[in-house]
Amino acid sequence: MKAIVLLGAPGAGKGTTAEGVREKTPYQHIATGDILRAALKTGTELGLKAKEYMERGELVPDEIIIQLVEQRLDAGNDDDAYMFDGFPRTLAQAQLLEQSLQQRNALLERVFFLDAPRDLLVERLTGRRICRSCGVNYHVTNLPPKKEGVCDQCGGELYRRADDEEATIANRLEVFAQQTEALISHYDDKGLLLHIDSSVDKYSLIDKLVEILT
Ligand code: ADP
Ligand code: ZN
Repeated sequence: MKAIVLLGAPGAGKGTTAEGVREKTPYQHIATGDILRAALKTGTELGLKAKEYMERGELVPDEIIIQLVEQRLDAGNDDDAYMFDGFPRTLAQAQLLEQSLQQRNALLERVFFLDAPRDLLVERLTGRRICRSCGVNYHVTNLPPKKEGVCDQCGGELYRRADDEEATIANRLEVFAQQTEALISHYDDKGLLLHIDSSVDKYSLIDKLVEILT
C-alpha cells in the first residue's frame, strides 16, 4: 500500500485534479467530502452526524473522519495506491493517518500542496456546478456545459453544492487558514511537500502531477 495527499484550500482544484490523475495512474481517489456527502444523501448515521458541520462549512470531528478512512483502507488490498483529497485537514488527522499507514506497512510518498490566490478560489467555488448523477464538475464561465444545467457526459442535472454559497465559502477559507494550513509546514518538515501552482488550467495541472507520479 502507498499513498499521496492532495492538500489545498477549498477551490484549489483538488477534486478535479484527482479525477484526472486517477484516470492516468493506479492511484485511487479517496475524497472524504464525497464520502460524507454520499452518507448524507443516503441518510446514514454518519451522514446525520456530519450534516450540521458541513452546512456551516466547519470541519467534521476527527473521530468520524478517521473511522471513515480506516474503513476504506481496510476494504483495500496490499498493492493499492491511494490519493487522498480533502484529508487530512488537521494535525490530529495527519498523525492518525501516519499511524494507520504504518500499521499497514504503507508509505506516504508525497504531499502536493495545490496553491492559488484567494480571489481565484472564491471565483471557482461560486461558479462551480456538479452533476447529480456522475459527479463531474463544471464552472459557469470557465468550464460551462454545452447545455446550461445539463451534464455533457451523462445528461444528468447540474447543481450547486449547498456549501458553495458566499457566506459558507468565507467560513471554509477561514477554517482552512486556522486548521489546515499548519499541515503545510508539518509535511514540509518531513520533506514530503511539493508546492504546486494550481492557478493554471486543469489539464496542465493534471499532466504535471501525472508526470511526477510516473
Ligand atoms: P472543499 O475542499 O471544497 O471544502 P470537501 O468536499 O473536501 O470540499 O469538503 C466539504 C466539507 O466536508 C468540509 O467543509 C467539511 O465540513 C467536511 N469534510 C471533508 N473532509 C473532511 C476532513 N478530512 N475533516 C473534517 N471535515 C471534512
Ligand atoms: Zn453527469
